[in-house]
Amino acid sequence: MNKISFRRVYASGIEIVYLLERKQVKNINLRVLPDGSVRVSAGSWVDVSQIDDFIVSKAAFILKAMRRQEALAEYEEKYQKELEKARAGEENALADPEIFREILDELYPAFIPYGIKKPEIRIRTMKRCWGSCLVNKGIITLNRRLLAKPRECIEYVVMHELCHFVHPNHSKEFYSFMEQLMPDWKERRNVIRI
Ligand SMILES: [Zn+2]
Repeated sequence: MNKISFRRVYASGIEIVYLLERKQVKNINLRVLPDGSVRVSAGSWVDVSQIDDFIVSKAAFILKAMRRQEALAEYEEKYQKELEKARAGEENALADPEIFREILDELYPAFIPYGIKKPEIRIRTMKRCWGSCLVNKGIITLNRRLLAKPRECIEYVVMHELCHFVHPNHSKEFYSFMEQLMPDWKERRNVIRI
């Protein structure tokens, strides 16, 4: 029989409420759902104080996961409008092309430890892609049409191209590197994917 209860613990003064479900499971299992809620399952023989201690010991992970879920929800809300516009084929007014260099300057420092020289930016109107790069020549080419897109999307394209200077392919390593530097890149890409 499953038993469900809410529990509340404090970790460095921060309250964490979690839903505890008693199940036939071996360990204490912890999940943070997309709505930011914390779910825990544990066997009926595990003492609640032991479960509370476990949650407190995982507080840093839980809070990080909760913040990430919150950030994603904010994105979805913020870019709902952009997505609708994109579907309707409407474009925003064009931003100043200087924004490309500004974004490059912001993102580039993360690549210095990899011994990468700051690439040059070229701007072209392209039909099939948002950006491309010539790693050996140190050039990133960006689509002029990006100037009608939200800054976060331009950041995503610049980040993608910069990551190619470390991994010049679309390998697993490339994507895990991208994920590390910009954990919400998929949400950003989705806005300009349509
Ligand atoms: Zn690529």
